[in-house]
Amino acid sequence: MRIILPTSGPAVVAHGKGDLRIEDIPLTVPATDEAIVEIAYGGICGSDLHYWLHGAAGESILKEPMVLGHEIVGVVVQQAANGEGPAVGTPVAVHPATPAPGDVRYPEDRPNLSPGCTYLGSAARYPHTDGAFSRYANLPARMLRPLPENLDLRTAALVEPASVAWHAVARAGDVAGKTALVIGSGPIGALVVAVLKRAGAARIVAVDMHDKPLEIARAVGADEVLKGDDAGAIAAVDADVVIESSGSHFGLASAIKGATRGGKVVMVGLLPSGPQPVFISLAITRELELLGSFRFNDEIDDVIAALADGSLLVDPVVTHEFDLSQGLEAFDVARNSAESGKVLLNFQQ
Ligand SMILES: [Zn+2]
Repeated sequence: MRIILPTSGPAVVAHGKGDLRIEDIPLTVPATDEAIVEIAYGGICGSDLHYWLHGAAGESILKEPMVLGHEIVGVVVQQAANGEGPAVGTPVAVHPATPAPGDVRYPEDRPNLSPGCTYLGSAARYPHTDGAFSRYANLPARMLRPLPENLDLRTAALVEPASVAWHAVARAGDVAGKTALVIGSGPIGALVVAVLKRAGAARIVAVDMHDKPLEIARAVGADEVLKGDDAGAIAAVDADVVIESSGSHFGLASAIKGATRGGKVVMVGLLPSGPQPVFISLAITRELELLGSFRFNDEIDDVIAALADGSLLVDPVVTHEFDLSQGLEAFDVARNSAESGKVLLNFQQ
């Protein structure tokens, strides 16, 4: 089956700091291993906001216009010419990473750590890797994950950030029966709460500076919430496992204070580059295990299964949905973390 496709379509393009545009981009001929996916929903991520607000996300600096977006779902409208991957009409989630094995050593079973790894909508390398906030996107067949029948596209829009959360919780090992503390209850923090709940954590405490994120954290399974950064209250949690999802050194300081002796601290919130002032000596005297967490690997398949069987509850994390034509407003709402959780763009006409 062949569908007649247009020659261009609207996309969200970051041109530089403060310069975000909804504009038509040409639909190029896909490579033989690429399918054409009609995008249905896209979730706005912190990194998308950073490219817009600062022209950079961490060390990744925007050097030329780039299509944003890596949290995307859609329907295949043209199968890859080499016959690989899902057929026309298949709804799919997308694994945005392309590992790049090279001569730098990394654990074979952790391709997320491969040094040349590219990611959709990332300026980490040059030329940049365009994202898929566009009506149509050419995507390698190996990135596509068919959705089970009972998982709708809108819920599946959270597959990518939920996979980040799943990976972070997995880094802590078995959390069943344990006390868990989540610092920062933005979309990733809230999804971490949801994953902890599903994994059987006995007590989940969520921390944030604002009410709205804490409301969402409660809705996805937090047993207690703490507003602000009251060091005494955070230390009193005495958590076996702390997941730092705020990406600030204040958050990391709280994470260390909130961990019990011999506890684990997983750092998933991306800190700015450069030295970070943190009371780190506590990690020595309390023998804390500090664990980094970066993106994810095959956890995406577990997430899709858990969303489909209803064991992973994520719906409250989505607070807003905008049509692509209101994309700039959507980004404005998404930057306001006091008022919004995950903001979705709807690409369907
Ligand atoms: Zn993301």
